[in-house]
Amino acid sequence: MKYPVYERFYTWQGEGLHLGRAAYFVRLYGCPQACPWCDSAGTWHPAYRPAGVTVLDAGEIARTAAQDSPEGAIVVITGGEPILFDLEPLVNALHDLGRRVHLETSGIASLRGNLDWVTLSPKPFGQWPEPSVVARADEVKLIVHDPGDIAAGLATLDGLRSDAVVWLHPEWSRARERDAGVLNAITGAVKANPRLRAGYQMHKLYRADDLDIHSDKRIIPLGGDPRLGY
Ligand code: SF4
Repeated sequence: MKYPVYERFYTWQGEGLHLGRAAYFVRLYGCPQACPWCDSAGTWHPAYRPAGVTVLDAGEIARTAAQDSPEGAIVVITGGEPILFDLEPLVNALHDLGRRVHLETSGIASLRGNLDWVTLSPKPFGQWPEPSVVARADEVKLIVHDPGDIAAGLATLDGLRSDAVVWLHPEWSRARERDAGVLNAITGAVKANPRLRAGYQMHKLYRADDLDIHSDKRIIPLGGDPRLGY
């Protein structure tokens, strides 16, 4: 099994229940969701064809992860939309090297691979997550670009485990602008429903990902702008 790899870098997890943990990120290429505020638009936008997508097998990715990050660092498979690929060989190869493997996905296909942790980020305006992935999710991250995104996102979560945490994250351009409508809507939602938690993408405040020599420094004229921390 070969995987198109957009970038790999060693940093720390900037959000969710594993916030602050040392983490090696593997960002796979390709996503059909086309979120208008995507901060990784270089992985899918038809107007941008990166020169740097390499195709690697599971062993090559796992060996580089082990070489470029110390024992104990988790490996986070993200994208793009990684669930489109058969992740079993990659997860197995990383497990063989003693790594704990996390996944970030919008959940639009069946999950293949024995992941240690699944973060589901549904995109209610695009393809909804498969029920099997909702049921498998350990935590959910809803991106809030407009206040209505909270109810729209929650509507996709039928079958979510009662112990799965649901985060509300201000979409980064809104967070950076301190958008009162979005931030106050998140505060109101959490106070009304203690199942929810207010979140933030801390790595963007630190610009932690940019510090790794392997992270993508290209300025993509679509979605995010690393110079602004997103
Ligand atoms: S699902 Fe993720 S990678 Fe895909 S377009 Fe949306 S934000 Fe970007």
